[in-house]
Amino acid sequence: MGFNFDQYEKIKAQLPREVLLLPVSKTKPISDLMEAYNHGVKVFGENYVQELLAKAEEMPKDMEWHFIGHLQSNKVKYIAPFVKMIHGVDSFSLLKEIAKQARKQGRVIEVLLQFHIATEESKFGWSPEDLDEIAVELKNNTFEGVEICGVMGMASFVDDEQTIRKEFRQLKQCFDVLQPLLSERFRIISMGMSGDWPMAVEEGSNLIRLGSVLFGSRN
Ligand SMILES: *Cc1c(COP(=O)(O)O)cnc(C)c1O
Repeated sequence: MGFNFDQYEKIKAQLPREVLLLPVSKTKPISDLMEAYNHGVKVFGENYVQELLAKAEEMPKDMEWHFIGHLQSNKVKYIAPFVKMIHGVDSFSLLKEIAKQARKQGRVIEVLLQFHIATEESKFGWSPEDLDEIAVELKNNTFEGVEICGVMGMASFVDDEQTIRKEFRQLKQCFDVLQPLLSERFRIISMGMSGDWPMAVEEGSNLIRLGSVLFGSRN
């Protein structure tokens, strides 16, 4: 199907100015991404390290890559030389590894703290109950090499709007608790996907991650 630029423009036109639209290109061929690129879209989100490396290698160097999948500590070194933002940081050991690899590269990598807001078991992330512990860690460490920019989460895959809203609200609350502890650089709430982004924006998201609605459904 390729990249649906009309849809991209249509959604962008509906978004408040401060909301960023991140196209999620996982599993899609480079030709689809190049279509988007040729329309001026130069920021993409990817979920798998190997796939991201292959795409980053082949594609123009002025692209901005966001890693939005689950990242294992031993793979951080591969993406540290170029990745702009890592959304799914869900442990301090991972955060420390990202910071270390970023320093090695003489870079600063932007990161988001992932919270588990869905009821489903399989999703990664901190629990809102961990907020006190997170606050202590953030006070005691500088994590030089990373810029902690905000929070990220995924709502449950359910039809019930109230459940989804409640989960988005929970993520917004986590953001509000941590925000005063960090600087004004802590500013991003990454929530909302193809099926639920309008609600996410209503609940305070300022970064939505859209895959299938732009690139067509994945196999
Ligand atoms: C795949 C994925 C998306 C995009 O999902 P769509 O429903 O296709 O928009 C967004 N965020 C994360 C973390 C993903 O893994």
